Amino acid sequence: METLAPLAYLIASICFIMALRGLSSPVTARQGLTYGISGMTLAIVVTLLTPTVSSYGLIILGIAIGGSIGTILAKKIAMTDLPQLVAAFHSLVGLAAVCVAASAFFNPSAFGIGEIGDIKTVSLIEMSIGTAVGALTFTGSLIAWGKLQGVVSGKPITFGGQHAFNAALGVLLVVLIIMLCITQAPIYFWAITFLALALGILMIIPIGGADMPVIVSMLNSYSGWAAAGIGFTLHNNLLIITGALVGASGAILSYIMCKGMNRSFISVLLGGFGGEQAAGGAADMGDRQAKIGSAEDAAYIMKNASSVIIVPGYGMAVAQAQHALREMADLLKKEGVKVTYAIHPVAGRMPGHMNVLLAEANVPYEDVFELEDINRDFSQTDVVYVIGANDITNPSAKTDSSSPIYGMPVLDVEKAQTVLFIKRSLGSGYAGIDNPLFYADNTMMLLADAKKMTEDIVKSLEH
Ligand code: NDP
Repeated sequence: METLAPLAYLIASICFIMALRGLSSPVTARQGLTYGISGMTLAIVVTLLTPTVSSYGLIILGIAIGGSIGTILAKKIAMTDLPQLVAAFHSLVGLAAVCVAASAFFNPSAFGIGEIGDIKTVSLIEMSIGTAVGALTFTGSLIAWGKLQGVVSGKPITFGGQHAFNAALGVLLVVLIIMLCITQAPIYFWAITFLALALGILMIIPIGGADMPVIVSMLNSYSGWAAAGIGFTLHNNLLIITGALVGASGAILSYIMCKGMNRSFISVLLGGFGGEQAAGGAADMGDRQAKIGSAEDAAYIMKNASSVIIVPGYGMAVAQAQHALREMADLLKKEGVKVTYAIHPVAGRMPGHMNVLLAEANVPYEDVFELEDINRDFSQTDVVYVIGANDITNPSAKTDSSSPIYGMPVLDVEKAQTVLFIKRSLGSGYAGIDNPLFYADNTMMLLADAKKMTEDIVKSLEH
């Protein structure tokens, strides 16, 4: 088994690479998942069969407890709550990295890296980076979970000199790692761990609501690097490769999302953006009134349009309106209306959220367009059907430099002839700011649950 294990790990690594490749498109996503599950099953079975595993009792108990909790959570979780779940899972990866580093530091002979007080320098560097990144990921992910779950306020928590303070702590962390390598004193190991725990909190608290998607994907990347760090400590090539894959793909996703949000990648990496601008944001609506319409009005307007762009957002996911939406689009197409979908990179609560829901409702992929491919079309479009979206259409991002979403590219829905907004109230979205579009002359508000309103429009179209 010892000679076969590296080969099996290599096959598992290839499966993970194929999984990532598959997951990059909705068409191949299921295939990608199959590769991922196969690779992970192979990796676990081979690891359990290696001769260094001397007893199975605790391992089986751990798999039973963790597996049961995971299965129950996965079955119960609503798709809209997935970002919180992902953040919570990242925190566990971080905690695991800290635990492995601690056990390696206090029992080095079991890991073949020397004796207490005489650990190889390279191993000390690996484990101190592993524990630092792990601890930072642990607390950072917990704060992200709290913000997404609404347990911690989504508002940025800032104080003067925050960036300088965080940078000073980062420098101190490096100094402590050097001291650990020189002295091998346990006090430095714990100092690194506790400082990184504090840094994780300090890095995430200044992040404002609308910028959380980038942070979730950045923490995903950190958790990958933490896992790769454990791989070095455990001399496990598969863990190094898998950790690096997660770390690199998370970093690339963060980079893509930063570009989508028009944010600087470096400032996200260092933790601390969105804070300076967050104080402002509420648009002054004066005493303007919003025009309220009905399902019949909407059906009439869309039936007589030549083109309709549908803009889905978080509210569509909450209402699970994608199937009714597909039905509505099919009816409109039968009437000769050109129907397309516009997807904003951070619509919903996780990357690709809207694509997944639309794919679930079998919306043809060729009807679905990303922001940069469709934004120019709004000015030549008759009707935009904004279903449960808010921040991703808010023009304050273009006009109000005090807005927390200032600089984020948004869908230019206001350029269409008529904008139909389907939501339950005139309230704000995730970023907590008003949307002046609700009061625009070419906007009609359809105030209802997204699924109910779309079903009513379908009925109206059928009659
Ligand atoms: P928003 O959160 O801005 O707006 C969603 C709107 O949906 C709300 O204003 C709400 O209004 C409405 N809504 C909620 N439930 C329903 C329902 N049942 N029926 C009809 N409407 C409903 O969502 P967007 O998709 O426009 O923007 C995403 C936001 O989330 C951005 O700020 C983004 O930064 C952030 N984010 C994105 C993540 C990602 O990875 N995609 C992750 C974390 C945050 P009302 O209550 O009046 O109905």
